[in-house]
Amino acid sequence: MSVSTKALLPGQNDNGQQTTLGVMGGGQLGRMFVHSAQQMGYFTAVLDPDVSSPAGWVSHYHIETDYLDQDGLAQLMQRSVAITTEFENVPAPALYTLGGHRTVAPSAKSVAIAQHRVKEKTHFKNCGVACAPFQAIESQEQLRLAMSHTDWFPAILKTSSMGYDGKGQVTVVSPDDLAAAWNSLKNADAILEKKLDLAFECSVIVVRGFDGQMVHFPVQKNLHRNGILAVTEVYENAIHPEIADKAVHSAKAIAQGLDYVGVLCLEFFVLANGELVVNEMAPRPHNSGHYTMNACDVSQFDLQVRSLARLPLVQPRQHSPAIMLNILGDLWFKNSAETAKTPAWAEVLALPGCHLHLYGKLEARKARKMGHLNITAATTDQVKQVALRACEILGIEAF
Ligand code: ADP
Ligand code: MG
Repeated sequence: MSVSTKALLPGQNDNGQQTTLGVMGGGQLGRMFVHSAQQMGYFTAVLDPDVSSPAGWVSHYHIETDYLDQDGLAQLMQRSVAITTEFENVPAPALYTLGGHRTVAPSAKSVAIAQHRVKEKTHFKNCGVACAPFQAIESQEQLRLAMSHTDWFPAILKTSSMGYDGKGQVTVVSPDDLAAAWNSLKNADAILEKKLDLAFECSVIVVRGFDGQMVHFPVQKNLHRNGILAVTEVYENAIHPEIADKAVHSAKAIAQGLDYVGVLCLEFFVLANGELVVNEMAPRPHNSGHYTMNACDVSQFDLQVRSLARLPLVQPRQHSPAIMLNILGDLWFKNSAETAKTPAWAEVLALPGCHLHLYGKLEARKARKMGHLNITAATTDQVKQVALRACEILGIEAF
């Protein structure tokens, strides 16, 4: 079998096999991709070393090897006609290997750029989209250069790769503290950014097909707590339409510039002075897009399937105001409980318009993403009211 340019329809293919879509990574995003793919009649194959990975549980095939294991990659290719990824740090070399023999979306090249903050921000600049002033720190000379930007401090130092949910980041108060801060990150390739005065954060998900067609979801307003997404709100006027238009336009320019195929999430800051700047991108569906599962006529995972299988993309339509609450493992340990206690799901589900999504993780741990709660309603007031009540029941801080 070689790389096909035809639509990959579900069901039996020319070789008498069920059309199978593969995914690198077995986390919750992979699980929701698998659910969407199976709903459309595809078979699925997941590669993830963890025997109890959320996507592995629900997939037709689960290949339990390392991401760079040649035998594992060969098995994934043997099973799948097309392969996608579900987490940002899938080793790009694995994707290069797969891409030589199968349809892979997003491409290894796009993923490699998204995995490296300096490359990523350089791409944003090249696309004409504003981001925070930054300086790569990969040598003593660059360290000295970064120290000279005295007006950036207090600044944020981030490792260029492998950071997520605020990990691998430190605030640096003054230029004199920079060398020690870099040392605390083991002098790994890093980026220093000016710390901006944020009014709020937002994100937008665009989906681009092999033919270059692009569609997008509404712009999402996001609240982070301790570096982790806590709440996403999507309804009329949550974000000024002018800012939202600019975010969509910028996201599309960035996707176009990468010749991207698949689902791409762009995260933005809206500054206190009203300016919009891009922060980072995720080459996959995104936590802030989970509301699409219940509030839109097609979800981000449905469009991940369609873009991978070369099926038509349609502009999604949001049919209900929506709020998403992230369900972190902390909720199992409320009131300083030592042992995990199941949150009051039944009480929450007694509220109108609550859609509980749990990822099937066997153990609740603090800061671990266990699931999310999507709330939909007929009006913005109602959705907020129910969301605040759900927060109260679950012990999530009000927003
Ligand atoms: P991660 O990959 O961990 O999500 P981010 O770059 O998104 O890394 O940083 C995490 C959070 O830190 C952001 O959502 C934002 O709240 C804050 N942050 C990051 N960079 C800046 C900056 N330059 N100025 C102000 N706040 C920032
Ligand atoms: Mg982020």
